[in-house]
Order: sequence, then structure tokens, then C-alpha cells
Amino acid sequence: MCKNHNHISRRDFLKWGAYALGGSILACGKGDDIVQLTATVAPDANTVAAPVLKAGEFADTVLVNGRLYTMDNSLPTAQALAVKDGNILQVGSDEAIRALAGDATQVIDVAGKSITPGFIDAHNHLQVFGSLLDRFVHLLPPEIRTLDSLLEKLKKSVQEANPGEWIQAIYWVTDTMPTKFHLDPISPDNPVWIMQQGGHFGIANSMAMDIAGITPETENPVGGVIERDENGELTGIFYNHKAMDLLRLHAPIPTTDDMLQYIRSAGDLFAEAGVTSFYDNNVRFNALDAYARAGQQRVLKPRGQFYYTLEWPSDLERALNEMPTIDDEFMRFVGYKFLIDGQFPTWYTHEPHNGISWDMPTWDPKIFKKAVSMLHDIGMQISIHTGGDAACDLALDAIEEAMNANPRPDPRHRIEHATLTKPETTQRFVDLGVHISCQPQFLKFFANASDFIDEERAARLKVTREWLDAGVNVSISSDAGSTPWYRPQVTIFGAVTRLGPNDVPYHPEQAMTVEEALYAHTMAAAKCGHEDDVKGSLTPGKYADLVVWNEDYHTVDPMDIPQVDSELTMIDGEIVHQI
Ligand SMILES: [Zn+2]
Repeated sequence: MCKNHNHISRRDFLKWGAYALGGSILACGKGDDIVQLTATVAPDANTVAAPVLKAGEFADTVLVNGRLYTMDNSLPTAQALAVKDGNILQVGSDEAIRALAGDATQVIDVAGKSITPGFIDAHNHLQVFGSLLDRFVHLLPPEIRTLDSLLEKLKKSVQEANPGEWIQAIYWVTDTMPTKFHLDPISPDNPVWIMQQGGHFGIANSMAMDIAGITPETENPVGGVIERDENGELTGIFYNHKAMDLLRLHAPIPTTDDMLQYIRSAGDLFAEAGVTSFYDNNVRFNALDAYARAGQQRVLKPRGQFYYTLEWPSDLERALNEMPTIDDEFMRFVGYKFLIDGQFPTWYTHEPHNGISWDMPTWDPKIFKKAVSMLHDIGMQISIHTGGDAACDLALDAIEEAMNANPRPDPRHRIEHATLTKPETTQRFVDLGVHISCQPQFLKFFANASDFIDEERAARLKVTREWLDAGVNVSISSDAGSTPWYRPQVTIFGAVTRLGPNDVPYHPEQAMTVEEALYAHTMAAAKCGHEDDVKGSLTPGKYADLVVWNEDYHTVDPMDIPQVDSELTMIDGEIVHQI
């Protein structure tokens, strides 16, 4: 297990370099045509009835002497809670809860500690996160910040590999962007692929491009850029998944057994950090069996939901024909994911920026709108990645057209990241009932945002206060796999402090309060996953998924929030982590 990911402290967080970010990783499959969907699929969360004690029955477990923040307006705070058969039996005073305990009841005195609902990480890439820990060479800060140090470490990995063996790595930021011209001299006999961890661009050496059949004559795919220099020669840099797929699909992919192990180990890290549910927002076909088995075999501590990514139009046909049934309270397929742009260098914006491409959506807008309508019509939830403001407006246009043509109640379509949005877009979220799934901690990466976009737009990154005041349901999440940290504490810290480059709060007037951030990581997250009937608050009848914290988020110094830890994580009434 890589130490980089075991525990990111505030100090580590502050040390991370600056770079625009926003997205996800992984890929497979391609195609051009769209298929007509006719199946009816309507995923629904199970509703759990509140348990009732019969005469002579008692609670399985009671937690007493605590400070409960329930996220339930009918009883916002309480002292104690009782659990029966994996569900919350009752919430109330110590006296009332102790009365539910019998001789066999486990009584946990939490000594005044705070208790919240288990955190729900509404946007992450759990399987990829686990695979990055295991299969990729890490070229990350604080060790690697320069091109020289990157090449030095990479060279060692190449020397340890057998000739012809693929070397795959992740990097974060360097003083000079690597190209094939830097990679080729250190890797003459091994294909090399290094990906910026954000997941939307990467660099290959010449041998990797030879294996993939990429030549200077290879055309850019729709929505992707295979970069060439001023002489028309390949630089080795591939922007957006559409281009990256053409290269990286030739590298070895993990087996289902491997993926199962990645899911399990990443899930353990989540549970230790206080995450009791995760929504993997970018699952490709090759990971479906692993998720199905993870659910069936209960090898994973947190509960999971996932969104299947449609990278290419033909992925729709495959999904329709081959999607297995994955639908229980521990693992559920819930919807489809699109990406309309990448991270900053390829943000799709209304006005130009200084990156690689500003006017290129990754989907043909007509095909995209058609796909959204079809999925909306068959009852699916749709999740759309947007970085730039034009990407967000295109996503909302597609949702609006689908909903106008077929108004169905409460589809809760989601926009992921919504990193840059226009002022007038905020009301569209409200009108369409679209939820925002965002990561305010990304602001740390927007160093010198005004270097690549103008001040006016730089001031509108992650406008969480504006969204909340307008009444949008905003959840926050780690985006683990695409970021150097996975802990919800870092997410809460970012939402509350909005620390930006050089540790200066970035437009702090847009910050969330602690209460809002906790709600965004619990109840708002459950809502955007259609699970607020069973998760997200400490309410009788909901799953007994909760965390006892060593510090109270409400009273700890905000700068120390990243150090808050789970003392006890409970999922389904079972203690899955305790210190
Ligand atoms: Zn992501």
C-alpha cells in the first residue's frame, strides 16, 4: 500500500502543488453509432421499515453519552441511539435509549464524542483508486515536483522491468510538462504511459505509440486531441479520454480478481476514514463483474452504488445487452455517466481560455442529447461531468430537452464538478431539479487561476454559497482516484476553508458552514443517490451506518479538520472499524 494515500494530513494537503483538476480515470471500448434503447430499467432504493421491539426484545446495540448530529430536522441533536437488526431503532436521550437495552445488548459509552451519519462519498472511482495504489508507479509530490525528478524515478522503474513490459505511472505536476522526447531516452525497450492523476491527459513514449499504431497521420478522435508539435511530430501527449483510449487500451488491464482486491482495499480505507457508502462515478464495462462479485460476496465494507460510463456511443448498446443485474442494499447499478469535457486544459467554455482547447465538447451535442433523452425515458438517473461553463450549459440543455419531452417525477439528474458556471446557470439547476456533486477542495489546485482564465471567470469557481442560497442540492465528495486524497475530512476542510493556492482562502464568501458541509457529505449525498429514504441521517428505520468521531467538527479549529478521525465506524449495525 502506498504511503502517499494512507493518511493525508493537513500539512501534506497544504504541500500539494497547484494544478487545474476535475475528473476521472479509466477507459475501454469505442464506437460511433448510437443504439435505440427500449428496455425499461427503474432502479429504486429499498425502503427499510423502522424496527419495532416486541415484548421481551431489546436493542442489539446502544450508543450513549454522545453528541449526535442527526441531519434530521425533526430531532437535530440527541444524546443516544439504539440499533436493531442493522437499522436505527430509536434516537433520543440517554435515559430513553438505555431503557431499550437488555442483558445481551452491547452498550457503547462514547464519552461525550460526536456522532454523525456515516459519510457518503458521492463521487469517486473506488476501483481505480485501489488500482492506482497497486499497479501504477507514483510520481507524486512531495517527492516529485520537477521533470528531472520524475524522469529519475521513472528510469529506475524501467530498469527494474523486463524488456517489453509496460510501465504505467501517475504524476501530479512538474515544472516542465513531460513529452515523449523526455521519455524515449530512458525507455527504449519498454512502452510507457504516464497519466496526470486528474485523469484527463497523459503522455506516452514512442514504443507505446508504436504498439497502439498511433502515427503523425492518425486523426484526432471526436472530443480528443493527439498533440503534435509545430513540425507535425507527435509529442506523446493525449488529451481527453477519447484520445487517451486509443493509447491506453493497449496496456494490460487488471483481471476481475485484481479489481476485486482493489475495491476491497480501497473500501477498507474509506471505512477507516468514516465513509460508509460510496458512489463510483465512472465504471467501465471491464469492472462490472468485480462490482457484482463485491456486492454478492460482501467483501467490501462500505455500501456501494455506481454509474456506468458512456465514453463512446456504442457503449450504450453494450450496456443494454450485457448489463448484469446488480441491485441490493450493498451494491447497486443506478445510472449512466457522461463526460462533456476534461480538466482545465480542455475545459469546454463559452469564451476562450489559455489551455489546449476551449471549444470542443467530447460528445457531438446532437448525439449526446439523443442519448440523454433515451436514458431519461427509460427511467435512468444521468450523471454528467462538466468542467467548463459551456459543458455545464450543454449538459443542462440536454436534461431540459429530455424533461420537457417526457416530464417524469424527480429524476435527480446530476452534474459532476460544475467547476466553472455562469451566474444565470444557477437558477437552471433549481428549475430542473438537477443536483450538483462537487469537490471544493479542488480549489487548492487552482493556483493562479487568473493566469489561464480572466479574473471574472476565476472568481466563479465552485460557487457553493450561490448554489446553496438558490436552493440547489449540493453534495461534496473526494473524487478519490483522480485526486491525491480520499479522506472526507479533507473534503470538509476544503468546503469550509476554501483554501486556495498559497493557503489563501479562495473567494471565502462562497464557503460552506461546517453544518452545511456535514449535510453535503451525508443527507445531500444520499439525496443525489436517491437513497435519502434509507441513508444520510440518524433517523429511526434507516440503516445503522454511523461514525463516532474523535473530535467534533463544530468545535475543532477549522485548520485542524483534516486531522479529525473516525474512532468507530458502523455499517449495517456492525462495527467495521474501531480505534
Ligand atoms: Zn471523478
